[in-house]
Amino acid sequence: MATDNYDYDLFVIGAGSGGVRASRVAAAHGARVAVAEEHRVGGTCVIRGCVPKKLLVYGSHFAEELQDAAHYGWTVQGMQFDWNVLRDTVLRDVDRLNGLYTQTLENNHVERFLERATITGPHGIRLASGRELTAKVILVAVGAWPVLPAFEGVEHCITSNEVFHLPELPRRVVIQGAGYIALEFAGIFNALGSQVTVVNRSDQILRGYDEALRDRLLQITMARGITYRFNCPIEKVVRQDNGALSVTLCGHDAFEADCVLIATGRKPKTDGLGLETAGVALGEKGEIPVDEGNRTTCPSIYAVGDVTDRVQLTPVAIREGQAFADTVFGNKPQTIDYDCIPSAVFSQPPLAGVGLTEGQARNRYGNVKVYTSDFRPMKNVFAERMERGLYKLVVDAQTDRVLGVHMIGPDSPEILQAVAIAVKAGLTKAQFDQTVALHPSMAEELVLMK
Ligand code: NDP
Repeated sequence: MATDNYDYDLFVIGAGSGGVRASRVAAAHGARVAVAEEHRVGGTCVIRGCVPKKLLVYGSHFAEELQDAAHYGWTVQGMQFDWNVLRDTVLRDVDRLNGLYTQTLENNHVERFLERATITGPHGIRLASGRELTAKVILVAVGAWPVLPAFEGVEHCITSNEVFHLPELPRRVVIQGAGYIALEFAGIFNALGSQVTVVNRSDQILRGYDEALRDRLLQITMARGITYRFNCPIEKVVRQDNGALSVTLCGHDAFEADCVLIATGRKPKTDGLGLETAGVALGEKGEIPVDEGNRTTCPSIYAVGDVTDRVQLTPVAIREGQAFADTVFGNKPQTIDYDCIPSAVFSQPPLAGVGLTEGQARNRYGNVKVYTSDFRPMKNVFAERMERGLYKLVVDAQTDRVLGVHMIGPDSPEILQAVAIAVKAGLTKAQFDQTVALHPSMAEELVLMK
């Protein structure tokens, strides 16, 4: 694609997972590319999301491992935890990845503007410094941002943006919401020894996941000491003279906490972006609707990732960024297949799924067979942990095709990624059964269900 009279062939707003992939691939196809980022290169996943969260999960999981170690003959003396060490190690790794992402852009000759950029027309961009630029194509990859419900004292609460920087480990944590972020941090804080209360506006956790797995997670986490308060969102939070927070839930007496984490979803970050100047239509939640080629209602402006509110997951944003760049700058048209995207919640224990849940399959196919394995993992038996894993295969009774696999138990995200290939490939239950078990493992349950 020629530059014509524009400053760039492509200007990308947002250097997160989708934006960085699109920038470097378009540049590799020969385009003159610039990217603007108002926070840090790497975006939510790398800077304040998946990566630092997973490191905190690893860090907190040692509590369980160290407890269990005694059953294997280990004596662990003077066991102590220092939040500052874990926090700083995690933040150092974030710096490392931020450097690697920046390096990737540099190596591909992508010009970087570390400031906010807004759109001034179909081909116009204005940087926060006041500089005006033009591009033949603009890609919006600004992601999403935590939603804060409106209640008195919400300014005393934090979101997943701040949680990685806490000056100390809070003794008492209240988490509003019962989705991914809420349950992952409930697990982290619970394992690290904080007293955790999860409050949600409904009586459901992890809406969208298989019901049996959600029930199992609820039972296990309650047994581990997490308290749930359902059907009662926060009414107000008051900062007291002693520094503690007084939290009132609708219809309840106030109680004290040291930290209130809000995890009630993320909203596309389109406010004040100037999209109206280019005629880019927005959806109800502020998301940018796009066609299957990632094009908005303005022909020169595209969007990928969380800002489009299709599937808010990093690997999806990366694929969308790649497909956009290959299609528009590489002469290799591509669309994304959104079917059978595996996902996981890094709760403790973790939960993972791919394909249709039992409920979805029954609605769509009517005649469905469900196979389950409800078992106590060997390592739990040995460590005298009562917690049981639960695996489920959802099968189309007519064709024998496996429509969905859902699992909760140790390492389930690691196991699920591999079995997702089989589900995506449309394999049948008989083909699962033809595969010899790998013994002893938890994953062998997948080929042994009768
Ligand atoms: P989720 O959409 O997962 O959960 C939102 C929670 O907040 C739900 O429990 C919902 O309740 C509740 N809620 C929604 N709106 C309100 C409101 N106005 N007032 C009170 N409660 C409300 O959002 P998260 O913030 O946890 O995560 C955002 C996204 O980030 C996820 O959807 C996911 O795509 C991504 N993510 C993925 C991770 C992973 O892959 N492991 C990890 C972290 C985030 P109810 O359901 O009862 O309505």
